[in-house]
Amino acid sequence: MQYNVAQLLKEPTGGVRRYALAEDITQIDPDLSVLGPLVGNVQLMRTNSGILVTGELSTAVRSTCNRCTEPVAVALRFTLSEHFRPLTEVETGRYLRPDEFEGEADDLEDAALLISDHHILDLTEIVRQNLWLTLPMYPGCNWQGPGECPNLVKMLAELSDVRLLRDDSSSRDEEESVDPRWSALLALRDKTQGER
Ligand SMILES: [Zn+2]
Repeated sequence: MQYNVAQLLKEPTGGVRRYALAEDITQIDPDLSVLGPLVGNVQLMRTNSGILVTGELSTAVRSTCNRCTEPVAVALRFTLSEHFRPLTEVETGRYLRPDEFEGEADDLEDAALLISDHHILDLTEIVRQNLWLTLPMYPGCNWQGPGECPNLVKMLAELSDVRLLRDDSSSRDEEESVDPRWSALLALRDKTQGER
């Protein structure tokens, strides 16, 4: 995801490069379990003060269903639109101060948006940030649409059977020996039924 933009920086405003991506990003973030390559297209366009990167990218990561805690694959798709600024002037190697550019101060100081003094534009950090921004807050098994988590429905049905058996028994000890994870699910089931 690193592009040498020395030549593009010498071109007039509007100069364009297009790249197709199929990148291995499994090492991009220790807290992300990436399941597939990052694929898509990016366009790098020379502007009067730097390079505008636009593109559509997608990949998939492993997450955990918010309801049944089973692992799920979550497809992530995002649009890039970021303005990178060069750290040095390409012709002279002169360091360019942030105040020589127009734009939001935060963006100008953002290290992720700097083109290195060797004219390398690196998308890695921007991509990493976008993966986190795109990750749903409450991933679920049925991430393709709304509705009940199919796993949770199945588990609650199984618990219902267990509970019927348990209710037949008068032993207190048995109730106290219920697996704590099941207790939590039983409580959840009671709550869910209470809401209906
Ligand atoms: Zn689930």
